[in-house]
Amino acid sequence: MSSSELIGHAEVLTGLWTAAAAGRLPHALLFHGPRGVGKFQAAVRLARGLLCDGGPGPPCGSCGACARLRAGTLADLHLLDPEDEGLETIPIWRVTPRHDHPGVTTVEEFLSLRAREGGWRVVCLRDFDRAHAAAQNALLKTLEEPGEATLLVLESSRPGQLLETIRSRCVAVRLEAVGVAETADLLEAAGVASGDAACLGRWSGGAPGRAHELLREGALEMQPLLAEVLRGTVEPLQAAARLAEVRGDFSGGTDAARARARTRAAVVLALELARDLLRLEHGVEATTLAHGSTLEGWAGVGGARVARTVDALLQARQDVEANLSPPGILDRTALALAESSTAARPVTGWAPR
Ligand SMILES: [Zn+2]
Repeated sequence: MSSSELIGHAEVLTGLWTAAAAGRLPHALLFHGPRGVGKFQAAVRLARGLLCDGGPGPPCGSCGACARLRAGTLADLHLLDPEDEGLETIPIWRVTPRHDHPGVTTVEEFLSLRAREGGWRVVCLRDFDRAHAAAQNALLKTLEEPGEATLLVLESSRPGQLLETIRSRCVAVRLEAVGVAETADLLEAAGVASGDAACLGRWSGGAPGRAHELLREGALEMQPLLAEVLRGTVEPLQAAARLAEVRGDFSGGTDAARARARTRAAVVLALELARDLLRLEHGVEATTLAHGSTLEGWAGVGGARVARTVDALLQARQDVEANLSPPGILDRTALALAESSTAARPVTGWAPR
């Protein structure tokens, strides 16, 4: 299953395709809203629906253009996905040609070419807030003179980080979380078993992008393991060793990069659980929490202990980015959760700090 199958936002996309058919689609859009709600996937789907032979409209999936899009060989779509490429920032030489980086297809060059298939040319830029100010400035010229039948879609969860001059040249389109039930439905439609889809829908808070990431990164295996640590039914270091074995589709070109991605996924999930514990300690109803059904019946251990757990997990999160050893971070993650365990006494082999 590809993430492009998990989208939602049908109303927004239909409105934009209708505008395109009437010749009223702006040349530049800014898709903004919470992280993980599928903004970039929606941008790519918008593009596919413009480029489809039967478009503008929902991509048919079977025409020649749709087939070339799936194969990644359609020349009229240009994607820049720093997440996928492992880029922390978007450098200027991805936007405009630079002598020191020859041979790179830049946004500017791409849009200066004529459409190969005689229709639209579309650029989708993910997390454009990661672009250096120089790269953002370089895009301004393109935004001012975009050319006929071209569309630029900028995607950002932090539009405040964009230059005002960039924001003012784009029509802002806000995309919200699509909802827990709809996210679960999207997952089920994509072939995920109904019980798993319901869990992922809740854990993601109704954000399809996050739900897909959880699925890809082994959350269905990790979350129950972390819950066991909280219940005190597994020894923390044993749980850590099992976390290191969780199978998933972790991004990265090397084993080390994948181990780091797996570790990051485990720490983030543990942090989400711990934050729900903190909410429980503050009297929030379990039924309203992402991990509420897991934590139901969890007897409070006191806000101070949970706060220590959260602090230790925040430190572990930083350790991932500082490139410390994944096994050590997983050990600290499990021990941090065990700090908030409801087990009557620490399980064998675990010395409380
Ligand atoms: Zn098509």
